[in-house]
Amino acid sequence: VKNLWNNSDAEACGEDLLALRVYSSRLIGQDPNLVLHGGGNTSVKSSYTDLFGDHHEVLYVKGSGWDLETIEAEGFSPVRLDVLLRLARLPSLTDSDMVHAQRGALLNPSAPNPSVEAILHAIIPYRFVDHSHSDAVVTLTNTVQGEERIRSLYGNRVLIVPYVMPGFELAKKVAEMTLETDWSELQGMILMNHGLFTFSDDAKCSYDAMVQLVTEAELEIGTRTTPDVVATKLCTLELANLRSVVSHTAGFPMLARISQSDGSQDFTRRSNVADIATRGPLTPDHVIRTKRVPLIVEGDFTEALARYTQDYEDYFSRHSSDHHTRLDSAPRWAVWPGQGIVSFGRSLKDLHVVGDIVEHTCSAIADGEYLGGWRALPAEDIFAVEYWELEQAKLKKSGTSLPFQGKIAMVTGAASGIGRACVESLVEGGAVVVALDIDADVAGMYSGTNILGLRCDVTDGLAIKNAVDTTVQQFGGLDIVVS
Ligand SMILES: [Zn+2]
Repeated sequence: VKNLWNNSDAEACGEDLLALRVYSSRLIGQDPNLVLHGGGNTSVKSSYTDLFGDHHEVLYVKGSGWDLETIEAEGFSPVRLDVLLRLARLPSLTDSDMVHAQRGALLNPSAPNPSVEAILHAIIPYRFVDHSHSDAVVTLTNTVQGEERIRSLYGNRVLIVPYVMPGFELAKKVAEMTLETDWSELQGMILMNHGLFTFSDDAKCSYDAMVQLVTEAELEIGTRTTPDVVATKLCTLELANLRSVVSHTAGFPMLARISQSDGSQDFTRRSNVADIATRGPLTPDHVIRTKRVPLIVEGDFTEALARYTQDYEDYFSRHSSDHHTRLDSAPRWAVWPGQGIVSFGRSLKDLHVVGDIVEHTCSAIADGEYLGGWRALPAEDIFAVEYWELEQAKLKKSGTSLPFQGKIAMVTGAASGIGRACVESLVEGGAVVVALDIDADVAGMYSGTNILGLRCDVTDGLAIKNAVDTTVQQFGGLDIVVS
């Protein structure tokens, strides 16, 4: 990773600790090798003056729903520090109660829910605390003898925390482990199979420590060269069939996109890909997006899916209790040997998030194998995150989706009149739309990623075929044609 710190940008924050917190959080958020799509969190301990002029010690911690890359001051929730420290001393606390207690301790009632790691941030006795899910550090921990590797790399400069569920349990674990610790001797904390923390009273020192520890991990892994791969020609009809059977299994339509990069193709061609790809995710929080394992596309799609579904149901019944509601059993990504890596999602945003996570995951697995063996957490730990009470609660609250969510439409004569109205109405209903018109202006007419404008003469059979191919490459299939 590059150190992106810029003194004049930092000085522009003046004495405002929260502004500085926003600044250095974004530096972490900008690097996909540190955090991906909402991962990681940061905080600053500061004071908050209320309407009466009373000062309160607070932890400004990343609020849920915010992304470090784009976070603003209002993305940090001010939580009373004394309450967080008392919570840390409770013998036990459910995550729902923790969320409740943390909301109750907010000094701004309209702030977002504080990160589930707020208590852990509170007990770290430094002003600035940074937490990332660095690919390189997590990869080292996800190998055979991962802990020994971390220990020999960092020595006593870091505290090594065995994997426990994020949230209260993790905060409790760290509190217990550090009763006798002299924090000033630590440069950071490595959480096995999860990520790392750095801290300092100075924003730059904490950020520098993050960059330093991650750089050391990257050097330890070294560079792996990906062989040049002869590109395989994509059979769009096959991809559309795959998307169709996956959507059927899910019970709702999903978009699909294939990555045929050298890295993806090389990964799918490994002789043991079915084994290494299904050991588990890079970090447990990815399971919400990617499920625990991908579909391995071998032979007949329907049969491969049936095996996947059966395995998912077995995994659920092995680990679940009565209060769990089973999620759909469809995969969110697939390894298609010789073709590439396919991502699935209900929206383009989902597709993009899954695609990024999977790219980093495959690269980490390849690194882990190179280091002597990729090893992920046992299925029961992954299940605990996938079926976390907070996630299950979100599920119960989620409303109904739009009527065309996950559907792919093609509209001809889309540059004007009825065609244009159809495009707009389909997009409003949640569909992604390929808008065709003989008028070349159609390509630039629509903004927003849910519409792809293509010039196409619909009396030309080859032009139509190309438009359909492009549609499948972009979105995975075709459900609705308006002509
Ligand atoms: Zn984390």
